[in-house]
Amino acid sequence: MNPFAGSVSDREWRSCAKRGSRLRCRSQESHSNSLNKAKLPIRYAACHFHNYKPQNPSQQSAFRFASSLTMEYPAVERGLLLTGSVGVGKTHLAVSILKGLTERGFGCLFYEFGSLLKEIQDSYNPNTKTSELGVLGPVLETEVLVLDELGAAKPTDWVRDTMAHIINTRYNDRKLTIFTTNYPDERKSEKEETLEDRIGVRLRSRLFEMCKTVEMSGADYRRKT
Ligand code: ADP
Repeated sequence: MNPFAGSVSDREWRSCAKRGSRLRCRSQESHSNSLNKAKLPIRYAACHFHNYKPQNPSQQSAFRFASSLTMEYPAVERGLLLTGSVGVGKTHLAVSILKGLTERGFGCLFYEFGSLLKEIQDSYNPNTKTSELGVLGPVLETEVLVLDELGAAKPTDWVRDTMAHIINTRYNDRKLTIFTTNYPDERKSEKEETLEDRIGVRLRSRLFEMCKTVEMSGADYRRKT
């Protein structure tokens, strides 16, 4: 049914509707290409802002920060560091930001911190004693980087140096980085490790400068019945 009957002929309207649906298909196709380029693991295909259901005020506030950053970027000063225990939805929100920004045409890249280190290690060339820039280059250069599970790898000197190189380069280039971590800032029990224990005092301090820290609390959503 032509909604503009009277001002546009049926023939013209049918041709515009066809063109519109072709353009929509093309834009969906280019969004899924950009998500492939972002290296988003398939298991996060279902994570979106619209299906994130905050369970408490801390999650509500994390949701608000994440969605306004997605709308306001590039007019934002800092990235986001989402902290909290396993299953509170940190990765879900970080992925939702990445999808929102990809949809708006910004270049994004997703990495789990442990996998990134492994890829860098695997690309190490013992002859030249260098790692392939093929792995590290895009991490340093991408407009927006999501680094999931910061601090998850055993903090050896090499891990700390690599982390510092990535974080400091992106900081100096004023590039947006979204981090998630299971490690808290405050030690709640004697045995518990903090983010500072895992990444060192200097890098934690750098993250304060480059990110807004948002603490999320709650039970593991996966255990929800
Ligand atoms: P975290 O990164 O904090 O460990 P995830 O984001 O990986 O947690 O969440 C674990 C699973 O639970 C994912 O499948 C995610 O989509 C889902 N989930 C977590 N919190 C919520 C929420 N508030 N609303 C909808 N799904 C959620």
